[in-house]
Amino acid sequence: MKPKIYITRKLPDIVVTRLTEVCEVKMWDKEEEPVPREILEKEIQDVDGLYCLLTESIDKPLLNRGTRLKVVSNMAVGYNNIDVAAATEKGILVTNTPGVLTETTADLTFALLMATARRLVEASDYLRAGDWKTWSPMQLTGQDIYGATLGIFGLGRIGEALAKRARGFDMKILYHNRSRKLEAEEQLDIQYADKERLLRESDFICVLMPFTHETKNYIGAAELSLMKQTAVLVNTARGGIVDEEALYHALKNREIWGAGIDVFEEEPVSTEHPLLSLPNVVALPHIGSASKNTRLKMSLLAAENLLQGLQGETPKNIVN
Ligand code: NAP
Repeated sequence: MKPKIYITRKLPDIVVTRLTEVCEVKMWDKEEEPVPREILEKEIQDVDGLYCLLTESIDKPLLNRGTRLKVVSNMAVGYNNIDVAAATEKGILVTNTPGVLTETTADLTFALLMATARRLVEASDYLRAGDWKTWSPMQLTGQDIYGATLGIFGLGRIGEALAKRARGFDMKILYHNRSRKLEAEEQLDIQYADKERLLRESDFICVLMPFTHETKNYIGAAELSLMKQTAVLVNTARGGIVDEEALYHALKNREIWGAGIDVFEEEPVSTEHPLLSLPNVVALPHIGSASKNTRLKMSLLAAENLLQGLQGETPKNIVN
């Protein structure tokens, strides 16, 4: 008998076809609407594998319903939406999709850094609104990127890929992790800094660490107060790592200069969110990995991880 799986969002045909070769597949087939919790609660009871996205909270009560569940495959590198400890306790494998999205997410992070520093969205809106009357010396002036200091919190796969891009802009690069990466320091000509030094000395700060109990509100009022008044903060990791209320006040009071945000504590973010009222914020709807090729690679990799787990092999990207 084929194992049964549930897929929580409409996937490209090629991925569904691959999964159907091995499994009996049921899929929530709406592209722009997440599966309602009550449907997921029902579907999980009857399946061996779950293919999910970061929009689903795979918590303990849900896992408890999956009495025959063996594998949860997340189509994302971050897996803070899954209670991994609860899954492990129940002997359920959890997998993610690292690596295939590294370069694409680093591209977006650097693009967001540049867009925020040079006020690209504000400038485009200004032109479209018909406000462009003349060229003037200090009109829409931003921050220089070339030769500036970049601080990276979380120098992992994406952090290193970002550092490579920054080298091309002759940036001085600082990073902070829980552990030093001596090889990367040498290869990329980057320096390890403690948290405080990174906050004080950087012109641009990029957050690229996972969202965990340790990193919740990692950047709050105290950290923002150490940053330069001209500093730009970019978060393409996860909402919740940066305290949004503290960030709002720091930006509003011009304690820091600007912020580029791809991820929010609550997603989709409300259009009433205070951060969206600020001109010095460039906000994006969680599109870090959103290139056509990369999303296809992620969806195929998540499928392979799920199949490996269901076929009794150790999945390529297991997190527990
Ligand atoms: P990774 O290779 O695991 O890198 C994460 C880095 O964070 C590691 O170097 C780790 O170093 C550091 N870190 C972890 N906990 C820390 C802490 N408490 N304090 C300081 N540093 C800490 O992960 P990745 O593939 O680069 O992805 C990073 C994150 O980006 C993911 O977890 C995901 O949430 C996010 N992401 C977002 C998007 C998007 O669409 N916006 C796309 C892809 C990924 P140590 O272990 O030495 O501390």
